[in-house]
Amino acid sequence: MDIELFNKYKKLGRGNWGKDLTIWKTMYTAFLSPLRNAELTPLNEMFLNIFLDIFKARKEGKPIIMHPFNYEPELFFTMEIAPLMQEVISVGLAPFHMNQPYIDFANKIGYGDNPTICNAQRPIISLLMQGAAPMPDLLCFLSTPCNSLSMSYQVFQNLTGIPSFNIDIPYWAYEQENDYYDDKTVDYIISQTKNCVNWMENQTKLKFKEENFKQTMDLCNQARGYVLEFNELLKAVPCPVTSQTGFWNFMTMVTRGGTLDAVKTTKWMRDEAAENVKNGIGGIPNEKIRIAWPYTHIFYDQALLTWIEKTFNAVVIMDLLGHYKVLPHDTSTIENCYKSLAKGTLDASMVGKCRGPIEYYIQYMINYIKDYKIDCVIMPMHFACKHVSIMGQVTSEAIKEETGIPSLIFGCDSYDSREVTSEAIKDKISDFVSQVVI
Ligand code: SF4
Repeated sequence: MDIELFNKYKKLGRGNWGKDLTIWKTMYTAFLSPLRNAELTPLNEMFLNIFLDIFKARKEGKPIIMHPFNYEPELFFTMEIAPLMQEVISVGLAPFHMNQPYIDFANKIGYGDNPTICNAQRPIISLLMQGAAPMPDLLCFLSTPCNSLSMSYQVFQNLTGIPSFNIDIPYWAYEQENDYYDDKTVDYIISQTKNCVNWMENQTKLKFKEENFKQTMDLCNQARGYVLEFNELLKAVPCPVTSQTGFWNFMTMVTRGGTLDAVKTTKWMRDEAAENVKNGIGGIPNEKIRIAWPYTHIFYDQALLTWIEKTFNAVVIMDLLGHYKVLPHDTSTIENCYKSLAKGTLDASMVGKCRGPIEYYIQYMINYIKDYKIDCVIMPMHFACKHVSIMGQVTSEAIKEETGIPSLIFGCDSYDSREVTSEAIKDKISDFVSQVVI
């Protein structure tokens, strides 16, 4: 990065962020430092803004709302409330194992254990009790994808007394051709969205402006269009990007959906993929195996996918979160903007595939395997994801029957390296690839 720009970002981060934002500030500094000798991509720039915007909001007395990884921030940007995705902290600490003391503290106070309550949220309760959790003004969360998430947000709300709004996600489909169609699905989300707007207006005294909403949803849909094109490009053989790349589309939409940052980042990712497809360049050299990874990454080991690439000349096409499938919609009227927001909520990465009957997930997987010419499926089954465990087993059988493709499912804690180690995971993957796939 240009040294002047680097110094500008350094200066922007100076000052007292407040005790509760100590970890947030540390994360900003840790993210910025290596950029001194690296290119400032739109993705990096977006991450810097994610951290800085919270500090800026605090300085300017602007409200901050905490939300989970499965709800996008378009409504919050519309209202000019700064969104803080909680998992940026709880999960962001995992690659450095800095979440472990907080996991241990949660155990000590009796707030669940690894197999029962998810470590994607559990550390926030420990951070809170030790005065290190960011203190938002508002809290918004969903009833999906699991009771564990919903419970941790309720505990946070009860311990802090921060006003919260909960959105209930229906089970049923909104497309008429779907066997599980219910004509009330989209309207049910829209009515809750409008209640959420009223709630935010009452809590903050800020006004919901229709022109802001329209502009936000236009930007959101522009970014969705780029992601859709990116997803299409990944059908090429060789796959034009590395295994981790798709995940950044998800991160972009869930932290900056509805902003220019998201448009710039998703366009940049689309352009990079398109350029490689045009030139026949693969994300990894000499691609031999294409893997579907229809669940979350092993967040505590950021080098695992690179190891898979190097060891087997295999590319993970996209993980479940990174396979962001929200389509762009018409946003010509305010009612259409509400519809688009509702459909985005229903189709969001993990929500869309896991919120209803198992058939949603099975169909998703069969299409994924056929569309992306997949050779095998690897599904790390996070211990706390009890609701998905059986779904994975049944789906792997359906996949085998319909496509003949083998699956590997293994238990682990995606956020805690002490439960199932990287080495044990690598052994399982090695056995599977060498004895079943090749
Ligand atoms: S990883 Fe599983 S248990 Fe954790 S929040 Fe997601 S769905 Fe819930």
